[in-house]
Amino acid sequence: MFIHGEWLSADSGEVFQSTNPATGKVLGQVASGSRSDTRKAIDSAAEAFSVWSKLTVYERAEFLYRAHSLMMAEQDSLAVVMTEEQGKPLAASRNEVKYAADFLLWFAEEAKRIYGRTIPSARTDQRFFAIQQPVGVVGAITPWNYPISMITRKVAPALAAGCTIVLKPAEFTPLCAKAVFEIFAKAGFPPGVANLVTAADPEPVGAELLSDSRVRKLTFTGSTEVGRMLSQEAGKRLKRVSLELGGHAPFIVCPDADPVHAAKGLTLVKFLNTGQACISPNRIFVHSDIAEPFLQELTARVKALKAGSGFEPGVKIGPLVSKGELEKNENQVQDAVEKGARLLAGGCRLMEDGLENGYFFAPTIIRDVTPSMLIYRQETFGPIAPVIIYDDSDDVLSMANDTDYGLAAYVYTKELKTAFRFFENLNFGIIGINDINPTSAAAPFGGMKDSGLGREGATEGILEYLETKLGGFSV
Ligand code: NAD
Repeated sequence: MFIHGEWLSADSGEVFQSTNPATGKVLGQVASGSRSDTRKAIDSAAEAFSVWSKLTVYERAEFLYRAHSLMMAEQDSLAVVMTEEQGKPLAASRNEVKYAADFLLWFAEEAKRIYGRTIPSARTDQRFFAIQQPVGVVGAITPWNYPISMITRKVAPALAAGCTIVLKPAEFTPLCAKAVFEIFAKAGFPPGVANLVTAADPEPVGAELLSDSRVRKLTFTGSTEVGRMLSQEAGKRLKRVSLELGGHAPFIVCPDADPVHAAKGLTLVKFLNTGQACISPNRIFVHSDIAEPFLQELTARVKALKAGSGFEPGVKIGPLVSKGELEKNENQVQDAVEKGARLLAGGCRLMEDGLENGYFFAPTIIRDVTPSMLIYRQETFGPIAPVIIYDDSDDVLSMANDTDYGLAAYVYTKELKTAFRFFENLNFGIIGINDINPTSAAAPFGGMKDSGLGREGATEGILEYLETKLGGFSV
């Protein structure tokens, strides 16, 4: 753990192991923190806040620039740690490190635009000024699927705004978190500004972050179930919360779209990170006029995807993170097939050529998916493309919106009018129109409904760490 600028063991002396999900091999071990360790980290963050929040934004930005340069200089070594621990192909890991570093640079700049406002008063002898001040100590909890960028997407805006932070990473990817904090250590942030508490059991760390009144904000990325529970607890103490939760993205292919182009786009976005992405398409609606050429192209592309270790050239499909995730994928396919869906590719665990040691699931396509099937509503988080063939262009909008989630949606069309109709009427926070990668440090990322509260990245991302203070001056 990294607390008050020092690498520490847990008070209990306990450790836990991190393993490679492609091979099952142990990669290393880290401290397993608990409530007292978390309290120590909060003590440090609270002490550091009084100094860090008083630096000028230009001074704070210098630390973030240094962290950005160091992260880019270590892009290759960080990518290796990520591929080993999380399993994504090495090229995708390199892309993620770049995306992670982008947040450090972007928020170093954005902090300089925390302007505040002057507001005209109805009284001649009164002046109003609204300023933005950092909320205080932030508690952050991050997931394993994007184990480096989900850390900087929180740490960069929080620190840029003048907050200090205590971060707990996912128990599947503590070595990635450790590697990021080694960069923060080298960047020379003052002790206590950024603290890391690794833990095998997240519950006591979360409980301490929620119960300590000095922690003014909780920022969480992970499942809707855990996010809802943490938010209820935070609500009891009126802590501010930001929640980036699960998704169930529709991918709509309109009758005027190019089916080959759409199938190519779907293959790239659906199987990215083996489907373990919150913005992964989870219901693919294809118009019946172009369904056959679309499915033909999709099937050919999916059957060509190579599964294996992320270090092997040409591999596009890495392992799932755990046995539990593997079973969830198997269960969704089995349920769909039993209820009448047809399998076009994959459908089972991969158990040959050494893959039996990892949690590999074959890239899968199922067609004729209906609302009665589990996969129609449950987030898959795996390499399964469920296809629904539709006829009525009016119906597809309400079908796409018929989910409790509201994170991302995708539309393929050549018609401007159709594009705007979907952009304006889909109830999701991020809409990709003929675009499978609508993400950037400069763009607001986040969901509606059960997909969360608040936004990360962009101007919105720094506002999450600021309080508005009004000054009324009688002159
Ligand atoms: P998860 O909710 O199981 O875990 C996320 C984090 O919460 C981990 O650090 C975990 O240790 C911690 N956690 C779990 N129980 C806790 C508790 N009782 N108290 C405190 N912390 C606790 O989710 P996951 O399986 O790691 O991640 C997958 C989920 O994350 C998916 O639903 C995915 O859609 C979502 N996700 C969302 C985004 C987004 O930006 N919206 C990005 C990535 C992942």
